[in-house]
Amino acid sequence: MNQINKIEEIIKGLEKLPTLPGIAMKILELVRSEDTNLKEIADVFSTDPPLSAKVLKLINSPFYGVRTQVTSVPHAVNLLGLNTVKNLALSFSLLRDYPKVNKEDFDYTSFWKQSLIGAVSCKLIAEKVIPSFAEDAFFLGLIHNIGILALIRCMPQQYSLVLKEKDRTLCSYHEAENQILGFNHMEIGGSLIRTWGLPETFSTPVLYHHNPEELKTKDSKIELLTKVLSLSSLFIDLDTFADKKLYLAMLESYVKEYDFTGKFQTDEIIRQIHKQTTQIFPLFDIKIEEEKAYLEMIDAAREELINLSTDFMHKLLEQKRLIESLREETIRDALTNLFNYQRFQESLEKEVYRAKRYNFQLSVILADIDYFKAVNDTYGHLAGDYSLKKIAECLKDSLRGSDSAARYGGEEFAFILPETDPDGAFIVAERLRKDIDSMRIDYEGKNISITMSFGIASFDPANDTSKTDLIKKADHALYQAKKAGRNKCRLFDTGLKK
Ligand code: GH3
Ligand code: MG
Ligand code: MG
Repeated sequence: MNQINKIEEIIKGLEKLPTLPGIAMKILELVRSEDTNLKEIADVFSTDPPLSAKVLKLINSPFYGVRTQVTSVPHAVNLLGLNTVKNLALSFSLLRDYPKVNKEDFDYTSFWKQSLIGAVSCKLIAEKVIPSFAEDAFFLGLIHNIGILALIRCMPQQYSLVLKEKDRTLCSYHEAENQILGFNHMEIGGSLIRTWGLPETFSTPVLYHHNPEELKTKDSKIELLTKVLSLSSLFIDLDTFADKKLYLAMLESYVKEYDFTGKFQTDEIIRQIHKQTTQIFPLFDIKIEEEKAYLEMIDAAREELINLSTDFMHKLLEQKRLIESLREETIRDALTNLFNYQRFQESLEKEVYRAKRYNFQLSVILADIDYFKAVNDTYGHLAGDYSLKKIAECLKDSLRGSDSAARYGGEEFAFILPETDPDGAFIVAERLRKDIDSMRIDYEGKNISITMSFGIASFDPANDTSKTDLIKKADHALYQAKKAGRNKCRLFDTGLKK
């Protein structure tokens, strides 16, 4: 399939993105406007009696533990608040809109079952950590994987490749999606939720639920919600973990990492999840399977965990850290701590793929230190190494957050600038050049000055530039910069600017 067809297919697919049912939209509007009265709410619900019946049934179930029999929607709103009723109505109406029959390679029942576990656990954790958001947390947990459904609907064929990759490599959804599609369900889910008009307290946690540590925000509420969602999504995997003891230990390590220690007991959350999902599955038309051994299993795992020495726990956490640092080692250069050549190639491959798919701009800069051999010759190899380190720090500091820097070779560096056109990339390169030019490296009392040359190339969708083409072009521009006298930036082809 050629590129244009691919892009067309995505756009066509996007039109099929799930929408919130009309009634859900109306309810959202009511909640947003401040002067909503009970009659307006009752009117909206009266247009959908089955939905009202479901909401009332859930409110009267042990899940809510309301003592009086709730008989009407306004009664429910009075008792539990508009927000609770809104979230339940949204949840039911969303689920109703989805196919119930399982497809050959996708099991809708288990998807919704897991989403409901996510909803219940998100609510339970939020109750302990951020009570004011507990009611919204149910809906947040329910929709945190909505991107998966959207992708299945938009691109069923490609997505079956994702599912195959997931089965083959036993990786998670988002890893298989990144591998096959170049993007993942968090990105799709996050933007879908935004288009539904839900606030950032929903879209951002969904976008970061697999990597909360990467979220950079000053909004402490959103940061907290992202951690809550991330942790609650882990409770979904309980069934699939063979070693429950290890699973509990992993949960505890996240509880500690997110600073939730002492706010709740993980095994109590598991017990509550089990109890509450048993109560609500039937109301969402999901069959409860025979799970009699479940609680005993958790008890046994907890017992074992208590009996484990703290020494073992330390070893386990140490191991986790070791795996993380090994991973870091494989992607970073030891001297400069920038990404290494291998990682640069992989990232660029992904970015070229994205640029093609979405018609994004993309630029690459290759940079080389001028006369670096002379630095080694004059000051010694150790001074050269030290300079490389300082140069890497300076380059990294001058770069924007979305751009990435790698050590491409000995004294060569490479930068990926996503969503940046040639002019923008030139400005970035010029800034890097000036910063390096004005920096002084102090090595054992000696003052070392450095300059660098920069070559810039941009992805051209019209000519379907490949990764290799892009590097070749940047390398050619770098050569032009050197030829023009060094300490210069050059754009591929134009060769006119400084
Ligand atoms: P120009 O690029 O301006 O043409 O001149 P140059 O002197 O920088 O280029 P050349 O390719 O001739 O030399 C590169 C030098 O970089 C030679 C090599 O010893 C040095 N170099 C490469 N990697 C390292 C390293 O890791 N540490 C140190 N100290 N030097 C390095
Ligand atoms: Mg060189
Ligand atoms: Mg050089």
